[in-house]
Amino acid sequence: SDVFYDVHLQSIGDTGPLLLSFLNVTDLAQAGQMRRDFVANVSHELRTPLAALMGFIETLRGPAREDVAAQGRFLNIMAGEAERMNRLVGDLLSLSRVEAEERVRPTTRLDLRDVLQTALQNLSRLAADNNVTLQTDLGQAPLQVLGDADQLLQVFTNLVENAIKYGGNSQSVEVTALNCAHDPVLRGPALQIVVADHGPGIDPVHLPRLTERFYRADSHRSRELGGTGLGLAIVKHILNRHRGRLKITSQPGQGAKFAVILPLLHDEP
Ligand code: ADP
Repeated sequence: SDVFYDVHLQSIGDTGPLLLSFLNVTDLAQAGQMRRDFVANVSHELRTPLAALMGFIETLRGPAREDVAAQGRFLNIMAGEAERMNRLVGDLLSLSRVEAEERVRPTTRLDLRDVLQTALQNLSRLAADNNVTLQTDLGQAPLQVLGDADQLLQVFTNLVENAIKYGGNSQSVEVTALNCAHDPVLRGPALQIVVADHGPGIDPVHLPRLTERFYRADSHRSRELGGTGLGLAIVKHILNRHRGRLKITSQPGQGAKFAVILPLLHDEP
């Protein structure tokens, strides 16, 4: 395995001594390992639908050449596989954009109520198709934050979409907003938006790793539902950029709760 050395040379003043600081070699080696794992994961995720597409192309050229009914069926499957690759590439681009901007604090004052309403509106069709009712209790207080509206829309879209997809049939998904006068981590007033479902929930052993790229608690179910395994990783990076965080709790068998905590802006300018 590779060993990374990185030495920083800094001159202190004109005649000052050279200060050598050794960056933590283990951290660098770990970063390298993570990058290699990521590339391996992406390749694997792209290869699976690609292999299916190549297989069906061969079948359409050969055995199914005269079978019009089979051709229609195969083309539908192929469209689904192409769709999966498209979603994956879309999520990879989102992730890379979000990571690139992670250190730039958003400066736009916005009301999260609008963002939440847009997210719920966009997902009303998916909810109906899954027999899920979306219930909201956003309270009366303004939900002002400094944020990037598109990115926050993506956060709540991902969380509500997961709640609908994994939450099981004929259930409700609740979106609740709470104000918290003092958040101990943010050391100031905060907003908490909770997305709760009543599905099978998540075994606690998975919780610490759930926001890692391509980490899935239930691989089979995720793939069946067309998941890329990147949704919560994207959410985490967007929240980092907003000085926010994600708290996941679950009672297996009774559902999962995803709480987004963001610094609250109180006064009008
Ligand atoms: P995916 O594209 O697989 O949904 P995500 O990053 O959005 O990827 O989520 C990671 C994993 O977390 C999912 O594969 C699923 O196992 C689990 N998960 C996310 N949301 C829920 C939920 N509401 N209920 C149960 N499991 C969930």
